[in-house]
Amino acid sequence: MLTPVKDILKMASDANTSVIAFNSLDYNMIYSTVQAAEKVGKPVICMLYPEHHTGFNWANPEGFAAMVKSLADEVSVPVGLHLDHCSDFNYIMRAVKAGFSCVMYDGSMLPLEENIANTRKVADAAHAFGVAVEAELGHVGFAATVSDQSNLDMYTQPDVAAKFIEESTCDALAVAIGSAHGVYKETPHLDIKRLSEINAATEAPLVLHGGSGIPDDQLDQAFVNGINKFNVGTEFFQLYYDCLKDYGQINGDGGNIFDYANYCQPRLIDYLTKKMELSKF
Ligand SMILES: [Zn+2]
Repeated sequence: MLTPVKDILKMASDANTSVIAFNSLDYNMIYSTVQAAEKVGKPVICMLYPEHHTGFNWANPEGFAAMVKSLADEVSVPVGLHLDHCSDFNYIMRAVKAGFSCVMYDGSMLPLEENIANTRKVADAAHAFGVAVEAELGHVGFAATVSDQSNLDMYTQPDVAAKFIEESTCDALAVAIGSAHGVYKETPHLDIKRLSEINAATEAPLVLHGGSGIPDDQLDQAFVNGINKFNVGTEFFQLYYDCLKDYGQINGDGGNIFDYANYCQPRLIDYLTKKMELSKF
């Protein structure tokens, strides 16, 4: 059932846990995400990362939204539709008009006041359509750059987070507490103390990016200390690629493309259902 992301975040907050938001590229990935959620009976969020469309020609916002909507209609669990990292106002509004119920404006690389002003502008426009806004404060860097996850200058500060949320009117906040995007070179160590301080300073749901490769015990801690949305991309993409490689190898020249969906979907669903065990709904 297609459900506003804001409502799903409220459910997560009430249950003192996190919903998992998976990035997807195409029908196979979205279908598997929605079916996995139905299988475990938990809410889920499907995310479009704009650059996968603009840079790699995967689904555009309208096509992505149509796939999520039609697949969500087939299940009873809440399914959210979210636009991941975007700093282009016009693209964000295109997603809003396409039916995304939550959009992320990422101004995390900007000076604080500029990030607040830009987030506010997006929030004013999105809120007029009943769409929620996720913003980012501090900066979640890239795992390939080890210094990004240990650079305290990039971490979110609790007092600044409270001010940021109030002035920008964002509905959810992505925090930098030691995670990073991509494949980690060293095991990350989330700053749970900082997270609980941010959580105490604001009512807004907090979001953890860079979810691939963080040990489960750390995630459990993060989820009971204010993280209500947890983004996973890298692991899911890697598995989808592994499916492609394995399918080609198993079938060789005698194979065909038609059976590929039936081959990969169970593998993706198996991974997704296991991952969703972290979500304690
Ligand atoms: Zn992210």
